[in-house]
Amino acid sequence: MAVMPVIIFFLGLAFGSFLNALEWRLAHGWSVFQGRSQCTRCARRLAWWENMPVVSFLLLRGRCRSCRQPISLQYPLVELIVAALWVFSWYRAGEPAVASLEFVGAARAAVIVWLSVFLFVYDLKHQEVPDGPVLGGALVIFLLALVTGEPSWGVMLIGAAAGAGFFLWQYLLSRGRWIGGGDVRIGLFIGLAVGWPMVVFALMAAYIIGAVVSVVLVSWRLQSFSGRTPFGTYLSLALLLALWFGPGIVGWYLSLF
Ligand SMILES: [Zn+2]
Repeated sequence: MAVMPVIIFFLGLAFGSFLNALEWRLAHGWSVFQGRSQCTRCARRLAWWENMPVVSFLLLRGRCRSCRQPISLQYPLVELIVAALWVFSWYRAGEPAVASLEFVGAARAAVIVWLSVFLFVYDLKHQEVPDGPVLGGALVIFLLALVTGEPSWGVMLIGAAAGAGFFLWQYLLSRGRWIGGGDVRIGLFIGLAVGWPMVVFALMAAYIIGAVVSVVLVSWRLQSFSGRTPFGTYLSLALLLALWFGPGIVGWYLSLF
């Protein structure tokens, strides 16, 4: 049995756990790196064995040991999703060997996947997007692509200008009423992540996903027409679609003509 997918799976669990912690800390105005993890309900500090991805949730049977309040399913779910997507992403990259250029490319994809899951969760829960992770992630994936040359810096910069510009003119025109500044930064990130012209595909996909989800939610009476759209959540789904399947889908579409 291959060792790499197992290592990547456990790394994914750990980084999924970090994602949950970062989400909670940013939403509650906590410092990211200071202080130990604690129960989000009774604030009791967690022992090391209560703070392991997935395993602790199962050991504790989904409840805090002191206050007996349920632990959100978000914790094990996000951990498992990041781990599974990282393993999938590594296979998608062609199972590259460590210390190869392809592995650097796979690591870059892992950053994109991690941030997509983060944006998905954060915008869905808090209806906003914090700047730090998006801009930090944008810098990291830009630098990693300079190492591999894929995508090229020109393709990334044009993509970033298109992605950010698409939201910026709406932001300026509406003085921030139609969309928030967070969307401009996500547009920048997506442009750097998939480059030009795939950024166009990603933006179109986000609107299609958003329209389909809205129709389903409204018809199930789960959301009114005036309900706020978590656009960062749709953008994060569209980004993963563009990253993994964009070239295949565009190629198939063009072959129809
Ligand atoms: Zn508790």
